[in-house]
Amino acid sequence: QPTLRETLELTAKRYPERDAIVYPRRDQRYTFAEFDERANRLANALADLGVEKGDRVSTMLYNGSEIVLTVFACAKLGAVFNPLNYRLPAGEVEYILNDAESSVLLYEADTREAVHGARDSLDTVSEYLYIDEDTPDGAQDFYALVDEAPPARPDAEVAEDDVYAFIYTSGTTGRPKGVVHEHRDMVEHNLICAAEGGLRPDDVGLSALPLYHCAELHAALFPRIQVGATSVIHHDFDPVAVLQAIDEHDVTVMFGAPTAWNGMAHAAAEVEADTSSLRLGMYGASPMPEDVLNACMDAFCDDYLQAYGMTEIGPCGTFQHPDEQIPKQGSAGVPALNHDLRVVEPGADPDAAVEQGEIGEILFSGPCTMREYWNRPDATADSLREADGKEWYYTGDLGYLDADGFLYVVDRKDDMIISGGENIYPTEVEDALFSHPDVVEAAVVGEPHEEWGEVVVAYVVGDTDADALDAFVRDSDDLADFKRPREYAFVEELPKNPSGKVQKFKLRDE
Ligand code: AMP
Ligand code: MG
Repeated sequence: QPTLRETLELTAKRYPERDAIVYPRRDQRYTFAEFDERANRLANALADLGVEKGDRVSTMLYNGSEIVLTVFACAKLGAVFNPLNYRLPAGEVEYILNDAESSVLLYEADTREAVHGARDSLDTVSEYLYIDEDTPDGAQDFYALVDEAPPARPDAEVAEDDVYAFIYTSGTTGRPKGVVHEHRDMVEHNLICAAEGGLRPDDVGLSALPLYHCAELHAALFPRIQVGATSVIHHDFDPVAVLQAIDEHDVTVMFGAPTAWNGMAHAAAEVEADTSSLRLGMYGASPMPEDVLNACMDAFCDDYLQAYGMTEIGPCGTFQHPDEQIPKQGSAGVPALNHDLRVVEPGADPDAAVEQGEIGEILFSGPCTMREYWNRPDATADSLREADGKEWYYTGDLGYLDADGFLYVVDRKDDMIISGGENIYPTEVEDALFSHPDVVEAAVVGEPHEEWGEVVVAYVVGDTDADALDAFVRDSDDLADFKRPREYAFVEELPKNPSGKVQKFKLRDE
C-alpha cells in the first residue's frame, strides 16, 4: 500500500513540472520533481546524522518550505515527524521532547529563545538543525546540510502501518498527549479531504495558518500535494499580506478559522487586492457566525466548506458543504466520506445512542483514527472502544443530530455541569448572558455544592453587575431556573490557550 512518501513521489512522477511549493519569504519556488529531490536530500542528511526508522524528528518552526520538507524527509526514512507549536515556552518544549524521546530538533531565529531555554534539560535530542543564518554553537546549518546531501531516494522500508507522526494536542486540560498517526491514516485522509473540497491539480492553496497543527497540515496542505495542486506558504497569518498573496498568486483555496476569515473580510475593505481567483474558503475550529459568512461572501467567493474534528481522527470527521452553509447555519455538517458517527450518553457504550435531537457525546469511526496516545495506555483505552466490529473514538465533545442527520457541536464534556442530577450545557447559559448588551465575554463553570452537586458560576467581562445580570436572566424565557448562575465573578479577561479557547479548568481551579 502507498505511504505518505508516495503522496509526494507519485505526484512528482505524474506532474514533475507543476509548482509544488512557493515560499515568497525566501524567494523559493519548487516543482514537484525539485521538491521531491530536496526531500531525498534532507532524508539522506538526516540518515547521515544517525536518524533511523522510528526515530523522532521534532520541529519548532513557523510555516515555511522547511517544515514541509521535513515531513516528507521523515516519511522517506520511516522516521517520525513531531511538530511543536512554535509559541510554546521552554518548559513545554522540554516536556514534549522528553515525552516523545526525540532525537533531532529543527528550529529557527523566532523559536531560538524557547529552544535554548530548554536545551540543557532535553534528555534525548542529539542533533540540532537551524534554518536561519548565523547558526548558533551546537547546531548545524539546515540549508548547508540539504544542499550538500546526495539526491537519490534513500533505501528504507516504510509500510502503511508504520508511524508517520506524533502530534501533541494543545489540550484544554492536563499535559499534552502525543497522538500517534500511521501513514495509512494520512493516505486515507488526503483522499477524503481532496474529494470533499473538490480539489483539482490546477488549484493554488495558501497556507498561512500554522502547519504544526493538523488542520492546516492534514486538511489543507497534504491533499494539495496528493492531487498535484500548488501550495503558497506564508510564515504566519497577516490578513493584509494574505489578501495580497491571493492576488499575486491567484490563490483558489484557503483554510482559516472563522476568526481569520473575519480578519480578512475586514482587511478587504482597506487594501486593494483582487481576490476573485478564490473559489473555496475552508474553515474549522467553530461554525462560521452568520455575519462573518455574509461578510466573506460579499468580499470573496460564494463557497465555504466547514470541517469539524480533532487531531485524533485525522482531523476531519464531518463536513458542512457550500450549499449547506445557510440552511444549516451553526451545524458542523454530516459525516466525512467513509466515516460514521454516533451521539451517545456521555462516556456510555457505543450502543447507548441518545434519541435524535438529544445532546450526548460525539463518537467517530473512520479510517484515519490514531493508533494510540504515545505512552498513555489508560488514556488510549478511555478514548478508543470497539463495538459492532468498529472502533469508536470518544471525542469528549457534546452535540446533537437534527432530523436530517446534521451534527451540532454544543460543548466539551469536561465543561458540562451537573446540578441536582440535571445536565447543564455551559453554552446555553453563556448564550443567555451574551444577549445582554453589556456582556463582552462570558464563561460559566460548575462549582462544587453540598446539596446540588454543582452550581453554575459565571465569569463575565463587561461593564455590568451581578444584580443586573441575574434580573436579566430571570426575565428571559430561555433559561430554566436550575441553569441560572448562582454566583457572578467580574474579570478583566478570560484565560485562553494559544488557539483562543477559554481554559475553563483554570476558572474551576479559582
Ligand atoms: P484539535 O485537536 O486541536 O484540532 O481540537 C479539536 C477540538 O476543537 C474539537 O474537539 C472541538 O471541540 C473543536 N472543534 C474543531 N472544529 C470544530 C468545529 N468545526 N466546530 C466546533 N468545534 C470544533
Ligand atoms: Mg488508523
